[in-house]
Amino acid sequence: MTLNEFKAWLKEKMPDNFRENESMQAHTSFRIGGPADLLVLPADVHQLEEVVVKARLENLLLTVIGNGSNLLVKDKGIRGVVVKLGNTIKNIVCQDDKIIAEAGVSLAAVANKAAACSLTGLEFAVGIPGSIGGAIFMNAGAYDGEMSKVVTKVTVLTVDGEIKDLSKEELDFCYRHSSIQDNGAIVISVEMQLAKGNIEEIRAKMADFTNRRTTKQPLDIPNAGSMFRRPPGHYAGTLIEEAGLKGYTVGGAQVSTKHAGFVVNKGNATAADVLQLISDVQKRVYEYAGVHLEPEVRILGE
Ligand SMILES: Cc1cc2nc3c(=O)[nH]c(=O)nc-3n(C[C@H](O)[C@H](O)[C@H](O)COP(=O)(O)OP(=O)(O)OC[C@H]3O[C@@H](n4cnc5c(N)ncnc54)[C@H](O)[C@@H]3O)c2cc1C
Repeated sequence: MTLNEFKAWLKEKMPDNFRENESMQAHTSFRIGGPADLLVLPADVHQLEEVVVKARLENLLLTVIGNGSNLLVKDKGIRGVVVKLGNTIKNIVCQDDKIIAEAGVSLAAVANKAAACSLTGLEFAVGIPGSIGGAIFMNAGAYDGEMSKVVTKVTVLTVDGEIKDLSKEELDFCYRHSSIQDNGAIVISVEMQLAKGNIEEIRAKMADFTNRRTTKQPLDIPNAGSMFRRPPGHYAGTLIEEAGLKGYTVGGAQVSTKHAGFVVNKGNATAADVLQLISDVQKRVYEYAGVHLEPEVRILGE
């Protein structure tokens, strides 16, 4: 099946849930990236399964994204089919001291739901702008909290089209890593074990974390969070600042003057600008400290 034939299939099956030649600028927090050939926004889990199984059966290129808050999409865009789950499939329930959320639910919504149910353990997630699916993929974390500490079970769609539950052990969590990065599975829903807490204390902790972010991070300028992984024994932002690169600019991309671990899009940055900046920063930090910085942001497209 060609991509055009797949488009015709989408038109018949879910005419309101796909876009053609869709700029990824609108779907990434960096506001950078060329077009996706076809972008699908499934209405529910059933549509998600249908699209993924069909695209895989037909050997089409397939990319799944969440909220696009950890992505750098290259300037020529993404070939084939992109399925966006962020803000699409988003049911969420509290069950005793557990929370079960579909992959597209935002971390802010999960943290707020936990607070509303007087459950503690997810306060750290309140300011991370991803979806819960992307957070499992990345093992997202902040302020001593991490997805690995609360997740008990993740339901995935495997590359063979099978719906399967993965235990915490099978998710093989470590720093900004889970087995989803290696096995190509798609996160459908996530079960988290929390503990009963005091709603005022939970809200106060969330407010404190939000306040710390607003003070330290360039939240008013498009970015994709920490550009580099934390190198063992160091902080990327500190090394970049010490190497004299705070404010370093390539085209529209700049090492944030507020937090050197972030790269911001000053308005018209291209992916090529960001990639050049990444390469320059890596070189200069290596010369300065002998440390190789690895991007944390996922780079997609061509
Ligand atoms: C201002 C700002 C602050 C941030 N702060 C933090 C922080 O404190 N801690 C932190 O860890 N991160 C932080 N991030 C980065 C980002 O929010 C997290 O990595 C988040 O978990 C990414 O989720 P997402 O839904 O946006 O994923 P995306 O960026 O859409 O995708 C990231 C990767 O996950 C994959 N993926 C997404 N959804 C699924 C799914 N359902 N199934 C399988 N694979 C999937 C994608 O293919 C891609 O490879 C920050 C980002 C910004 C912009």
